[in-house]
Amino acid sequence: MTPEEFRAVGHRLIDWIADYRKALADRPIMARTEPGEIKAMLPSSPPQDPEDFDRILADVDRIIVPGLTLWQHPSFFGYFPSNVSLPSTLGDFLSTGLGVLGLSWQSSPALTELEEVAVDWMRQLIGLSAAWSGVIQDTASTSTLVALLCARERGANFAMTRGGLQAEPAPLVVYASGHAHSSVEKAALLAGFGRDNVRAIPHDDAYAMRPDALDAAIRRDLAEGRRPCAIVAGSGTTGTTAFDPIAPIAEAARTHGLWLHVDAAMAGSAMILPECRTLWEGIEGADSLVLNPHKWLGVAFDCSLYYVRDPEHLVRVMSTNPSYLQSSADGRVKNYRDWGIPLGRRFRALKLWFHLRAEGAEALRTRLRRDLANAAWLADQVRATPRWRVLAPVPLQTLCIRHEPAGLGGEALDRHTLRWVDAINRSGAAYLTPAVLDGRWMVRVSIGAELTERSHVESLWGRLREVAETS
Ligand SMILES: *Cc1c(COP(=O)(O)O)cnc(C)c1O
Repeated sequence: MTPEEFRAVGHRLIDWIADYRKALADRPIMARTEPGEIKAMLPSSPPQDPEDFDRILADVDRIIVPGLTLWQHPSFFGYFPSNVSLPSTLGDFLSTGLGVLGLSWQSSPALTELEEVAVDWMRQLIGLSAAWSGVIQDTASTSTLVALLCARERGANFAMTRGGLQAEPAPLVVYASGHAHSSVEKAALLAGFGRDNVRAIPHDDAYAMRPDALDAAIRRDLAEGRRPCAIVAGSGTTGTTAFDPIAPIAEAARTHGLWLHVDAAMAGSAMILPECRTLWEGIEGADSLVLNPHKWLGVAFDCSLYYVRDPEHLVRVMSTNPSYLQSSADGRVKNYRDWGIPLGRRFRALKLWFHLRAEGAEALRTRLRRDLANAAWLADQVRATPRWRVLAPVPLQTLCIRHEPAGLGGEALDRHTLRWVDAINRSGAAYLTPAVLDGRWMVRVSIGAELTERSHVESLWGRLREVAETS
């Protein structure tokens, strides 16, 4: 493809995306595709000769789009909001179009320096002190793995330069809430702690980690000869958006010399609102922190911010320094390859930078406040309606709800819940995620798609009542 040919199809592709975004609300949200259906429409072997772009684009319409679940739809209330603003879409295009890689500062100086600036803008927007430095990772799963690797090496005094964890005299232990995201356990297992050394700490009525139970667990491990190493606290857990109390947890970390990592992947975006910051009071006492602007905030996936207070420790754990990557500027610049696992990095800062500049912080704050108000409105409706319950506090934009018809309990109630949520999802008019809370199915309503206005939440509530109360 020549640049001129690219110009022609590229314009058409942009038009295609603009039309798609404009008409999104008219499409069914949930893909009604059967497993294997998409694969069956695709040739099983690759083309030998060039194909016309018209044919490729026609297949996007015919094969691909019907097989998508529409996260940008205004009635998408599933999982969590994962907004992809149009300015950040352009930033992502540009990153790809420039075709540069960050291996070291020298390999694309602007890639590194824009990342430093954009990540520092975000630091200011979420109200962190200047003691934090950040880097963009692909996902929170990676950020949390990096955090636990750093915790492990601090706790074991750089065991990796000797015999690694295998040569340690006593096991190192990781603590997290029983409601922590699955990525936390995965990171602990991949970092070599072993499942026997990952503690799920009990939670209180608001599903937040109990600091007294944390302290007791640490003391028990100490008494039994193990070495408490790291705590992962959640600021906005996945199930209920619970906030583990950071201040007393940081106090426990300090007392016993543990690493504290805060997983604010989804809810960290809320910290651009000063009124939300009490939810993570004590955050300055943490060692590391992850938040995903690629969720509620609206930066195109993937863009996960990882902040640390001791970048030198991070670099010491992550750095390898082969001669072909050394340069005369090394003492004066950041080499982000030493801030995470991959060597090469995409120019992800562009989409964050485009997003922040084209939207402006004030508009982002207004949008998030709109979502909080919509969630509060819906919570009021549910609470005021007989046979409906809000099952957990609603600190932000996610509600955990259930319709409980008279005389229905146990597995019959589970069947009722799964039946009505499935009926709504299959209708294509709204999309919700069922989940288990305290052993019973409930339905999460996660509000915060960029296009979701009060009218969409009102229609959702009408439909919820209609479908659940008659099924
Ligand atoms: C979404 C989420 C994650 C995982 O995020 P990825 O970036 O997909 O790895 C981890 N923790 C919490 C609390 C989340 O909301």
